[in-house]
Amino acid sequence: MTTVLNSIELHSVDHCTLSCNYCSHNSENENVKSYSAKDYDRWLDKISQKGISFSIILIGGGEPLINENMPELISMAKSHTHQRVSTMTNGWWLSSEEMVEKQAEKIEGVDDLCVTIYKPYAEKFGGISAIEDKLSYLQELLPKLNIIRWGQRVVRDFAVIEFTDEKKDTIPDFDCGFMACKQLLHTGIVLGCCASRRVMYMSAVDKFDLQKDFNRDEFVSWYNKDPLDLCSYCSIATEGISFKEWTQKIGK
Ligand code: SF4
Ligand code: SF4
Repeated sequence: MTTVLNSIELHSVDHCTLSCNYCSHNSENENVKSYSAKDYDRWLDKISQKGISFSIILIGGGEPLINENMPELISMAKSHTHQRVSTMTNGWWLSSEEMVEKQAEKIEGVDDLCVTIYKPYAEKFGGISAIEDKLSYLQELLPKLNIIRWGQRVVRDFAVIEFTDEKKDTIPDFDCGFMACKQLLHTGIVLGCCASRRVMYMSAVDKFDLQKDFNRDEFVSWYNKDPLDLCSYCSIATEGISFKEWTQKIGK
């Protein structure tokens, strides 16, 4: 019998073409580093040997489309997923048809692409309608690709994620979307939420170590834990979600 869990994210690249303050993946503070299919195949294999699979495998980052290993990551993820392989991008390449063709080749076979557009690219590439033209061209090249547009057409606000050393009560019935983002690192550690990478040094970070021997029930119960230990140290769970105007660390 196989237990099908909703999703897992592969941390395919540390860095990004932007450096957004409060990036949920800590990419604004990271050095250049990409990972390969080999880095993740062994861990997904081990999980499936325990009788667990995922409806969606998300290839995340950083900015996944700067990773030259994308084609291999996609076909490896396809061999493990129950349903779909998804990825995401900040649209740094939506500048010309030639750039779109290059990226289309790189992501061929992926089921979903979530596109979030940020001010520097919107301005540089001639506004949202010019960007939409490039996305239409991408859709022509990859007709089966499900292109998901982020709600704010150009990102204006960002959720504030701050951690403290002091444990606090969580607010009643808080709901945090990041909890669904279980992130697998190349080391075989799965994080309870992607925002944990900001504070990996904290003992409260919820981790599952795939290097250890484990059984299906242990993993499934860890996966479904809600709230996480770390939530008691996080502004979203202890104060409620708040937003700040989008800014980045480097450049405008
Ligand atoms: S574009 Fe996304 S991954 Fe890159 S720094 Fe901004 S929030 Fe983080
Ligand atoms: S509230 Fe919990 S799940 Fe959400 S970002 Fe904070 S630690 Fe992660």
